[in-house]
Amino acid sequence: QAEQPETAQARKILPQVKKIIAVFSGKGGVGKSTVAANLAIALSENGAKVGLMDADIYGPSVPIMFGVRGERPMMKDVNGKGMIVPLEKYGISLMSIGLLVDEKNAVVWRGPMASSAIKQFISDVEWGELDYLVIDMPPGTGDIHLTLMQTVPVNGAVIVSTPQDVALADAKKGIAMFGQAQLNVKVLGLVENMSYFTPPELPDNKYYIFGKEGGKNLAEEYEIPFLGQIPIVQNIREGGDAGKPVMLSNDEIVKTAFREFADKVK
Ligand code: ADP
Repeated sequence: QAEQPETAQARKILPQVKKIIAVFSGKGGVGKSTVAANLAIALSENGAKVGLMDADIYGPSVPIMFGVRGERPMMKDVNGKGMIVPLEKYGISLMSIGLLVDEKNAVVWRGPMASSAIKQFISDVEWGELDYLVIDMPPGTGDIHLTLMQTVPVNGAVIVSTPQDVALADAKKGIAMFGQAQLNVKVLGLVENMSYFTPPELPDNKYYIFGKEGGKNLAEEYEIPFLGQIPIVQNIREGGDAGKPVMLSNDEIVKTAFREFADKVK
């Protein structure tokens, strides 16, 4: 699969963004948003400018994960048009439906409204110059994914899955979706999240709670790059809930796992 060609459409849309990476999962709750948030921070560590677009209209996580719940972005006049300025936190430019409307309202939107919200994230948000735009996609494969992929010139997709069979089955649907002729989005690889658990008092033990190496095996079977394993770690969950992603903690083991993953999709 070739990297998506620079079509005329692609150049007109977000011309100031160098690379757009979509983070996908087939199933909810596997850590897609956690991976997207920490990937964004890992990519920004060496001075790159990074944006994070929370396209998960029905379950926006960015406001909580970045501790900006209830904040509202500013507006700016650009050539007579009112543009939304992304919220800045930890050096990342953030946009989420949760920053624009009451979260309770967005969850009942029908497909067309959700799709038009995503289009607005492209046309009405002043992203400015970015080295990377990470997109936290809605889980699953549906209309909204097609809209997103047809609206945004995505350079590649990262698939997040736990090693569990039900999650892997849905990850396969995602691989098939990105490969469809009308989308043809390059799959950058698969990240296996929640790979194992190591209790602090037994540092040499690994418990494969969701099964062993299911993600790794799937990547091999589909001949896509395996981007690494992220264990189940309390710091990851706590960081997400506290609005400070684990990449900003002092958990060097987890940070190294995310950095190695980020290096592979740069
Ligand atoms: P998704 O976006 O796929 O729905 P989230 O990123 O919101 O999933 O993660 C679901 C929950 O699991 C969150 O509370 C998050 O903090 C937690 N979580 C995700 N990955 C890990 C991990 N590797 N270790 C511990 N908790 C995790």
